[in-house]
Amino acid sequence: MPTERPSFGDRRSRAAAKLREHDLAALLLTPGADLRYLSGYQIFASERLTCLVIDREGTATLVCPEFEAPRASAAAPDLSRATWSETEDPYARVASLIRGAGGLAVADQMWAAFMLRLEGALPERTFRLASEVTRELRMRKDAGERDALRRASESADRAYARILERPFAGRTEREIGADLANLLRDEGHDEVDFTIVASGPNGASPHHETGERRIADGDTVVLDFGGGLGGYRSDITRTVHVGRAIDPEERRVHDIVRRAQEAGYDSARAGAPAEAVDAASRAVIDEAGYGAFFIHRTGHGIGLDGHEHPYLVRGNREPLEPGMAFSIEPGIYLAGRFGVRIEDIAIIDDDGAVLPLNRADHAFATVG
Ligand code: ZN
Ligand code: ZN
Ligand code: ZN
Repeated sequence: MPTERPSFGDRRSRAAAKLREHDLAALLLTPGADLRYLSGYQIFASERLTCLVIDREGTATLVCPEFEAPRASAAAPDLSRATWSETEDPYARVASLIRGAGGLAVADQMWAAFMLRLEGALPERTFRLASEVTRELRMRKDAGERDALRRASESADRAYARILERPFAGRTEREIGADLANLLRDEGHDEVDFTIVASGPNGASPHHETGERRIADGDTVVLDFGGGLGGYRSDITRTVHVGRAIDPEERRVHDIVRRAQEAGYDSARAGAPAEAVDAASRAVIDEAGYGAFFIHRTGHGIGLDGHEHPYLVRGNREPLEPGMAFSIEPGIYLAGRFGVRIEDIAIIDDDGAVLPLNRADHAFATVG
């Protein structure tokens, strides 16, 4: 069921208000999540400049290659375009659209090749990061976005339930990773971003690169995977065990991580600072004596990007608010032995309470 098309014009008006608030003249957005959020236009980055210019009055113009105009008009029919032919200078075109005083906010992931040439075309301007303007908007998900995130998480939950039915022992991490990617697509994802399958000692590396290790009976296996459904991302982690003979320390560590994750949930509510979730999860692991082995922050925001604001990390006092969606993902990593991580996406609801978007079982599942 397709969600209603968001009002990109309303979003651009709010972005323009932020520009005025920050004394900025314009937002310059090359392909990426900010461009998609504010216009609906999605396109791969290439050496030809595509740049949405939004000025402080909210006037938006898409500077794009002439031959891509049909694609742009199909995706964002309400947007005016300034196209450039192969022999024209697109940077001068961008510069001509900027009026009024103030700095320019450029997409955080703009290529240096574009950034340096924009600086050359606009030598009097100072440059800032677009996220200073867009994070405020994108952090608070509207109803359609919440729905999209929920559907992505539910799809990932179904993929997890199905991977438990597959054999693990004797197969490589890469094979399990390929299964997960297929299951995500089969359950509705249109993009697969990553499938981390970290077995045995590899589980101690939180961002292990899924490889050729052959999974054996007795292994713990960290499964962390996600992708995109209608642009919005999923990201889930469960740790499973191959065979029923679970070592007591594996059992204990899994239980600690599970309680740490529940403590994170318990502390997440509107008004609580983002760092409180990290502190709550970390306290459980610290008290159990494994504090030195929880080596990353507790979570990250999620939306059109897999990692975005707010970050649940010590020092981030930003209060959680209705509409914020983020991961809660504590872990314990024992080098040379094994690792355990449990991750869900959660959202702060309109009543200020935390609502889990992933509902897949948290138990230490046994696989064959
Ligand atoms: Zn074991
Ligand atoms: Zn993850
Ligand atoms: Zn994550």
